[in-house]
Amino acid sequence: MTVYNFAAGPATLPDPVIKQIQAELPSINGSGMSIMEISHRSKMFDDIINAAEQDVRDLMDVPDNYHILFFQGGGTGQFAAVPMNLATKHKKIALLDSGHWATRAGDEAANLGYQVDVLASTKNQHYQALPQLNQRISANDYDYLHITTNNTIEGTAYHQLPEHGDVTLVGDLSSNFMAEQYNVNDFGLIFGGVQKNLGPAGVTLVIVRDDLVQPVDHIPSILNYNLFVKKNSMYNTPPVFNIYATGLVLKWLKDQGGIAGIEKVNRQKASLLYDFLDDSKLFANHIKASDRSLTNIPFTTGDADLDTQAITAATEAGLMNLKGHRSVGGLRASLYNAMPLAGVQALVDFLHNFEKQH
Ligand SMILES: *Cc1c(COP(=O)(O)O)cnc(C)c1O
Repeated sequence: MTVYNFAAGPATLPDPVIKQIQAELPSINGSGMSIMEISHRSKMFDDIINAAEQDVRDLMDVPDNYHILFFQGGGTGQFAAVPMNLATKHKKIALLDSGHWATRAGDEAANLGYQVDVLASTKNQHYQALPQLNQRISANDYDYLHITTNNTIEGTAYHQLPEHGDVTLVGDLSSNFMAEQYNVNDFGLIFGGVQKNLGPAGVTLVIVRDDLVQPVDHIPSILNYNLFVKKNSMYNTPPVFNIYATGLVLKWLKDQGGIAGIEKVNRQKASLLYDFLDDSKLFANHIKASDRSLTNIPFTTGDADLDTQAITAATEAGLMNLKGHRSVGGLRASLYNAMPLAGVQALVDFLHNFEKQH
């Protein structure tokens, strides 16, 4: 039975990448040593991390005045790192509350003593649409505006970025990193863990414009952008294996025609499922059409017991991890870069049959 994994993260990885890791695991580049055993100070790893950085630069067309950094600590680590490194002037952050992860980011910054102004929220619409900025904001008031480009749990995405005046835009791209195209120039900083679209859990990518990187006192070294720039992301031991594996996914992405190529497939995958859901008399997705995510698609029958039956039957059919997040319920299909079109077709066929039987 072919198994398709619709998990929200850690998530499915490309088959060829898993096979290459398997083949190379005992001995990397004929060295007789595993990638898990080599020094991060070795020439071999230097080549690996530099290639990964260059591939990020190529894939996202990252301008020369942006740094590409590899951290640990996940998106959650960056919820602390971003305010500590960037909110140095006003200690004030503007935030669009688009759901769970935006709230987490705001709470973390507030906990650390920064003022967080939620300028718009769609909480009272159950986050089924995106908040938009209806006021002018200025860099005289805020160090930056935090947005979550793709809301993993709720299933919304900013395909067009909100108008943000001269305020630095910070994007949490955790769940649509390189799944659809954004212009890096529109952001002062982008971050995200790689475990959804780009690799195994353990690496956090940060892309930051160089004028935003400055020496900051009294913050942990491990979250210090200035130090990581100076040390080429190797201030301390980086996650060697994870950076290697992420590098393989980046090469795979290039083989798919880069972000433009994968976005085309991602749009096909999402349309296939949304079209089915919009025609279905049993299942429905309730997200405002223009705000629908390409990568995370929640849906429900409206009946919790029937949803559970569908999840159980899907699991038996090899369609794994379709249970929705506990805060939303229902089902959720995560269709990240490595999910093939055939997997979405198998899901739609299954849902179609389930609908006929119920
Ligand atoms: C998964 C996720 C996070 C949290 O990432 P961790 O790496 O688990 O800390 C943050 N933001 C978004 C949008 C996410 O999808």
